[in-house]
Formats: sequence, structure tokens, C-alpha cells
Amino acid sequence: MTVLTDVPGPIDPPHRLLMGPGPVDAYPGVLRAMSARLVGQYDPFMTEAMTQTQALFRNVWSSTADACVLVDGTSRAGIEAAVLSLVRPGERVLVPIFGRFGHLLAEIAERAMAEVHTIETAWGQVFAPSAIEEAITRVRPTLLALVQGDTSTTMLQPLEEIGEICRRHGVLFYSDATASLGGNPFEADAWGLDAATAGLQKCLGGPSGSSPLVMSDRAVEVVRSRARIEAGIREEGDPVAVDFIRSNYLDVGMILDYWGPRRLNHHTEATSMLYAARECARVIALEGRDAVIARHALAGEAMLAGVRALGLTVFGDVAHKMSNVVAVEIPDGVPGDVARAALLTDFGIEIGTSFGPLHGRVWRIGTMGYNARQDAVVTTLAALEQVLRRFGFAAPAGGGVEAATDTYRGAA
Ligand SMILES: *Cc1c(COP(=O)(O)O)cnc(C)c1O
Repeated sequence: MTVLTDVPGPIDPPHRLLMGPGPVDAYPGVLRAMSARLVGQYDPFMTEAMTQTQALFRNVWSSTADACVLVDGTSRAGIEAAVLSLVRPGERVLVPIFGRFGHLLAEIAERAMAEVHTIETAWGQVFAPSAIEEAITRVRPTLLALVQGDTSTTMLQPLEEIGEICRRHGVLFYSDATASLGGNPFEADAWGLDAATAGLQKCLGGPSGSSPLVMSDRAVEVVRSRARIEAGIREEGDPVAVDFIRSNYLDVGMILDYWGPRRLNHHTEATSMLYAARECARVIALEGRDAVIARHALAGEAMLAGVRALGLTVFGDVAHKMSNVVAVEIPDGVPGDVARAALLTDFGIEIGTSFGPLHGRVWRIGTMGYNARQDAVVTTLAALEQVLRRFGFAAPAGGGVEAATDTYRGAA
């Protein structure tokens, strides 16, 4: 028998201020909700909490769709559920890519055995709706899969006109709003979204591990009719029709039946994550959806003014930047990773590194969810200034804090 002699102590994380591109600090109420008592899967309290959560998330998505649920898992569980349920092998999917998460959508669509077509724009830019329409006309896809906010570049793709374009061409429209939802405008119904998914660990101010999903009636009908066709094909034993990956766990039809009035057994809803998601959406309802978006806009504006006042150069097309994250170029001579580590060890502040073409070139600084607050913004700027000076970059003393504080005072 082996005995574990070196039993670790109870979990006791250090104090951190998470100012990267996500995850971020959860709202205190979300952490409290997660420690609430558990109940059974079909306890009336649980089913009522699920129904409340659906109503709260319709408010977050700005949608009246019946199909408004949580997919258990991190954001990419929601992405996979949406894509696997909306495309079939051989169907064409168009993915406009403006950062790392566009590549993820393309990869997931490829795993769904779709015929994937991509268009790309330079990192730091977004697509004009006309460029997307041109590609739709050329590719004639079943589905357009488009990221709204890509944290890898900090860009926010305008979606307002895309739904109408998709409708005109008979294309389903899916968006990954993980990084942007709750901190930037999102109008699922008014913008003609057929499906959208998110995660909690960005502007929603919760931990990762639950993926809100909303789906239009039209898209649900597509999911349902395909399930009917597949069931028919399976009965006849057609080997081709079943020769592809079909997830049970991420089957949107089954997830909807579980959340819907029939409450058909599927997985066991992740109870503590449901409590967390419910609380994230409740915070937004209490404060007001538009007020929360405005709080993110103000924090983002203050951080932008602050980093500029420190003499840093902002990456990308600032007019299309997400409110909740900014990428700054690492000044020449400053060791990016060493400076980031100094922020963490000396100040307990985490900021983000970057991927792909931006690796080693920019830091990404987030202001989202609970941390879209003045004190979090100015504390980060003060620490950043100190670290920049330590590594020989002559950031003006107090400049960042003053510019951010001025932004807040100007808005008061
Ligand atoms: C952060 C982010 C994700 C994260 O996915 P996880 O599975 O929760 O790690 C997905 N999409 C976008 C656009 C993101 O910014």
C-alpha cells in the first residue's frame, strides 16, 4: 500500500489582481454563490434556478430566444456545441479570421468535417461588411462563423450588418462572443444572430467552466430537422451518414431538451457553475446591461489614456478596439516577460503576454468584469510605470495614473 505522506495544505491562492485578457477576478458574489449548498438535479429549486438563469442570460444576450442555455465546459465547449450542431460533413463554412480565435473556429469546423473557407485580414484590423459579403457570395457557405472580440489582437469585429447579409444569402450566422459579451454591445436578436456562445471568465466576471449559448428559432429548427434526418438514416443503417464525429455531450438538441420544459435527462448540470453563471448574469441585470457596458467603456478609455500617457504605443486599429482589453507595444530594451514577472511578484498584478505574430511584441492589459473599476485601473498603471522605469524606460512619473484619473473625473 502506498501512503501519501506529503499531503498538500488546503487551497490558498495568493492575492492577485488579474488584469490580463482573461481570466479575471470573479465578482465576490460569484465566489459566494459557488460555495452555496448543492441540491439534486431535478430538485424544484434547481430547475427553478435553471429557468431563472435562462431569463437572466436572455437579458445579457439581448434576445427573446427560447434556446438560451449553458453548455457545461469552458468557452470552447460552447463553440464546439454550436458548430457541431449547425454543420454537417461536407458543408461549407466560411471563417473570416482576424486573430487567433478565428483559427480556432476554422479548426473546430474542420473537425466537424466541414469544407472550411477562410479569409484573413492583418492582425490589428477588422473586416468591412462588404468584404464578408463578397466572400459569402463566392463561397456560398451554410454557416458563417465569426469572432466578435478577439483577445489575441484586441479587435472588435462590427456585427451589426452581418446578420442581414447572412439572411439575404441564406447563411446561418454564428459568433464567438466569449471575450466581448457583457463589456461591449451585443444584440443577438436585432443583429440577426443564429447562434452565439461565450464564457464567464472575461467581461462576465466569473470563473471559466460554463459557456452560455443562445440560438435563434431558425437555427434550432435546423438542428432538429437534421437530428430527424440522421435518426431516419441510422435506422436504415446507412454507413456513410454515421461516419463522422457526433458528440453526445455537446449535442445542442439534447442540451435544449434537458433545459426545456420536458427536462429530458442528459448530463448532470454542473451545479456550482450554474450558481456562478446565474450570479454573473444577475450582477448585470441589477447594475443594468447598458450601465455595465458603459462601465467597461470608461475603464477601457481610462486604461488607454493611461498607457498612452506612460509613453507606450497602442497596437492595432484603436477605433475598433474592444473596450475591455488593450495591447501595448513592449518598448525597445524592456524584457517583456521579465517585466511581466516583476509586476506579478512585486505587485501581485497579472497582465497578458501574446501569441503568434505578436509574441514578444505586445502586452495585453484587460479591464473587465469585476476589474472594470477605477482603482484596478490606476493601481495597474502605477505598478506598470514603476516596472517600466526599473527596466530603463523613462515613463513620466505619475503620468498614467493622472491621465486615467482625469478620464474618470471627466466622465463624472
Ligand atoms: C478567451 C477566449 C476563448 C476561451 O476559450 P476557453 O475554452 O474558455 O479557454 C474563446 N474565444 C475567444 C474569442 C476568447 O477570447
